[in-house]
Amino acid sequence: MEAEGIINGVFPGEALSVLIPLEDTDIVERQGITSVRVIINDGRKLSNDQRRKIFALVGDITEWVKAPGKTARTRAERETLREMHLLYVIDALDGYEDSEKVRRQLTAHYCKLLDVMTFSLSNVDMTIARDFIDWLVELCVAHGIPCIDTLLNRCEDIQRYLYACVKNRRCAICGKKADIHEWGAGKPGMGGNRAKMHHSGQFVEPLCRLHHREIEDIGQQTFDDKYHLEPIALDDALCKAIGWKK
Ligand SMILES: [Zn+2]
Repeated sequence: MEAEGIINGVFPGEALSVLIPLEDTDIVERQGITSVRVIINDGRKLSNDQRRKIFALVGDITEWVKAPGKTARTRAERETLREMHLLYVIDALDGYEDSEKVRRQLTAHYCKLLDVMTFSLSNVDMTIARDFIDWLVELCVAHGIPCIDTLLNRCEDIQRYLYACVKNRRCAICGKKADIHEWGAGKPGMGGNRAKMHHSGQFVEPLCRLHHREIEDIGQQTFDDKYHLEPIALDDALCKAIGWKK
């Protein structure tokens, strides 16, 4: 459900408190609701950089879903498109490329998932645009969609992007299949046994063989500087996703 409210308290440098007028307050207990998601309407409009990122991401997604012919699509591919709410649009396009329609459909799907009012690029504010971009990036990571530029340059929140890369075992730099590279101290040394070690809190970078090898050649620091990459700490859910003891 969606509800609007006002900011009724500011704790400088720490927190905001929000008041949401609501008649059916019983819903909280009835449905066991313990958290809310707040979109702060910051009034700043979408930046040119964000607009460019949205067009680039939608362009790559459109290129990926554009099939050589309907019969060429496997059942699994159609299922993926259905999950992305793109199957109907793509079938209707009948092979013609129309990234504008794909963008509108992705926007509608995103707004439905978040239960927020639909938006256009002319009225969306910077905060929602930021979340929308990272959601598109996650779609690309989850489905292994080839992108012209590294998603490191397209994501707005690098930690959110890295989380998706680790979870889906994609290289954070090139998107290929990745191994999880343990970053910094805490590596299992000689004779270390991964099955017995605890990994929650361990810093990692998801990298393909090629990029992993580059670290051995130029060193971790130079590598991170070159790609503007940073490590991410594993949490219990990520440990589970990659099959490491938490
Ligand atoms: Zn790579």
